[in-house]
Amino acid sequence: MATKINSIKGTNDLLPDGTPALKAHTVASAHTHVTNIARRVLERAGAQFIATPIFEEAELVKRGVGGSTDIVRKEMYTVTYFGGHGGYILRPEGTAGIVRAYLQNGLKQLPAPLKLWTHGPMFRAENVQAGRYRQFHQVDYEVLGSADALVDAEAIALMVDVVRALGLTGVRVKLGSIGDPADRDSYNEYLRGLFSPQLERLSDDSKDRLTRNPMRILDSKSAEDQALLRELNVRPMLDFLGAEASAHFAEVQAYLAAWGVEYDLDPSIVRGLDYYRRTAWELHHEGVGAKSALGGGGRYDGLSAQLGGPEVPGIGWAFGIERLLLALEAEGVGLPQTPGPLLYLAAMDTENVGLAAQTALGARAVARVEFAYKAQKPGNAFKDAERRRARYAAVIGTDEAERRVLNLKNLVSGEQREVSLDDLNAVLTELESN
Ligand code: AMP
Repeated sequence: MATKINSIKGTNDLLPDGTPALKAHTVASAHTHVTNIARRVLERAGAQFIATPIFEEAELVKRGVGGSTDIVRKEMYTVTYFGGHGGYILRPEGTAGIVRAYLQNGLKQLPAPLKLWTHGPMFRAENVQAGRYRQFHQVDYEVLGSADALVDAEAIALMVDVVRALGLTGVRVKLGSIGDPADRDSYNEYLRGLFSPQLERLSDDSKDRLTRNPMRILDSKSAEDQALLRELNVRPMLDFLGAEASAHFAEVQAYLAAWGVEYDLDPSIVRGLDYYRRTAWELHHEGVGAKSALGGGGRYDGLSAQLGGPEVPGIGWAFGIERLLLALEAEGVGLPQTPGPLLYLAAMDTENVGLAAQTALGARAVARVEFAYKAQKPGNAFKDAERRRARYAAVIGTDEAERRVLNLKNLVSGEQREVSLDDLNAVLTELESN
């Protein structure tokens, strides 16, 4: 017998409702529900859908995500094909591809600020644990063409709106600002001065960060770095904001306060890459663990130029769909399953199976209708209809076939109603809207 082949570690199948031992973050209908809600919230705000390829030039991610990040240094999946070029990667996030598409396709011609959204799989070769996978899914929102603080505040409010619309309540926004490049330079200088005498106590990764990008030490997950950070009482980036970045940040906060969007100022939010500017935030939830964010966002005014384009201010956020589903499960929020068919049709005799199928095919113009592929006794037909969560069922016998009628049975109330085949679509239309 051939050996069985299983899925790759850290990847998940998204599965239909009713699959045995289904886990919250792998329910396909729940993923669809999240993207439908996100679509509604974001499209009402004027965002348009965009989809970019899942694989891109490796150089795009190196420049777009940053050569000093773990993502680029350790977690990129490269794509090769037999005998071919190997300089492609599976995208680890959505922003770089979207900004590339913006520059490549002249989206600058569209009215600014241009709001875009997408969702889809992302790939990172991380250590697999609960809420951390190698293929995961994000919903992503990006706004290009405005540096206005109002755009930042709206982006944060929209992210909160999406999770609220899903029914999550225990969400906290952690808000920070990383200032302008000159502010960050002076902060990095301060950090170098602080950490250099402690070099021996830093983790190997952080020794490296000290030369490349000291701010990223603050982000370190290593226990030794964390202990040192607590001891050193590091001053926050917010202390180093220049006048312009400070004013911008104050404006963002004023909007959020006026709109009743709650947040906590969090000095630990650092995005150390060159092209990040000013506002940065994360969304947290107890249900997915203290260290794991539901999502994050930030302003990236320097990215377009980094990718060879003109200066285009931008801001965006992404949340992980799997983490959202884990948070919803932790809060006990039930999600709608895919509805069953409005009508399940079966024939009692083999010669009428074709008629049942034909009736179903015609009725699908107005509703979801399923049929039995083999003749069924009424008792079995009704049981099957219930298993499929149908609202109505009908069994065609010789009498119904001759008279061209159906006996629609309401599977909840048990009521029956005779309907002529000619009127079926009109009746189903009416039942569908109830
Ligand atoms: P990031 O681009 O790292 O800011 O990620 C944005 C969001 O995507 C995170 O807050 C998570 O919700 C989600 N995410 C990132 N990496 C993973 C992963 N390996 N597995 C599952 N979700 C992830």
